[in-house]
Amino acid sequence: MTSKKQINLGQVKIGQGAPISVQTMTNTDTCDIDATLFQINEAYSVGCDIIRVSCPTKESTIALKDILRSSPIPIIADIHFNYKRAIESIDAGAVCVRINPGNTPESGIREIVSAARANEASIRIGINSGSLSKDLLDKYGEPTVDAIVESAVINARHLEDLNFENFKISVKSSNVKDMIDAYRKLSKLVDYPLHLGVTEAGPYFPGLIKSAIGIGSLLADNIGDTLRVSLSTKDIKDEVKAGRQILKSLGLLKDSVNIVSCPTCARTLIDVVGISHEIEEYCERLQKQLKISVLGCVVNGIGEAMDADIGIHGFQEGVAKLYLKGKEIKTVADKDIITEMKALIDKVSSNNKY
Ligand code: SF4
Repeated sequence: MTSKKQINLGQVKIGQGAPISVQTMTNTDTCDIDATLFQINEAYSVGCDIIRVSCPTKESTIALKDILRSSPIPIIADIHFNYKRAIESIDAGAVCVRINPGNTPESGIREIVSAARANEASIRIGINSGSLSKDLLDKYGEPTVDAIVESAVINARHLEDLNFENFKISVKSSNVKDMIDAYRKLSKLVDYPLHLGVTEAGPYFPGLIKSAIGIGSLLADNIGDTLRVSLSTKDIKDEVKAGRQILKSLGLLKDSVNIVSCPTCARTLIDVVGISHEIEEYCERLQKQLKISVLGCVVNGIGEAMDADIGIHGFQEGVAKLYLKGKEIKTVADKDIITEMKALIDKVSSNNKY
């Protein structure tokens, strides 16, 4: 996408046109190696590309070493306040450390950069509206968009002064409009990869909407290289699924299934809600570029079905017409619709699941 520079996080490339990667973060005690690895594998199973793990204590960076050995995806160590944890994490093998310059001393940043350079690890400069430096808060009075962007630029130039360019930047805010404005402004000032996110987006439903607006608006403008949807949820898979859905909605996720289904109305002749939900679940882990349409009647049903790889629309009460690659292939009774559609999905995708 937009960034002119590219960094590598293990096998995942970020920036300079690389596919936009989806991240999440574990919420286990990092010292509980089994629980943390279980969560990492869960996130991976729904398509997570990179995972972040908090490392607040020395014990956690020791545990990180074991976690890294078994993780199927690259790990970013999340560091606040004690820069020594960043150095221990890099030594343990983390491919990237997320640091918050607002709570990291200058001397600590120098040491982190030396360790990252020696180990070919990258850094994420994570600017948050809630933890700007005192200088900038004094200058601007509050965490304005300009204050957030200035903090990002100052810290980027600081790493450049240390001859270090292996980093990405985030400028998160819990205010969606501010977050969009900050990334737009920053994207004009730096060439580094940008990590997108609305910080502390909230509980599941409002968090989804805020993230879709914030992250989606930027991606639609070709801004952003990697993303995390931050939700107050127990199941971190929700964040990965939401991130992937944002990419899918913008046509930015290769080999994914796009389901078109109608909102239903008085003309609805088949169980659109039940069918679309079951088909969505069935296709969740399918790696195949497919468009599937489920519509309740002929009004828009024929057009959408002809434009889909697999399409169905209500034809008479409890009866549907099934289409494959734009051609009507059979009439199906309500009770057989899901079985018939799954069979077609398997046929078209050759059961190519990851
Ligand atoms: S496609 Fe038909 S059933 Fe679905 S919302 Fe439109 S008119 Fe109603």
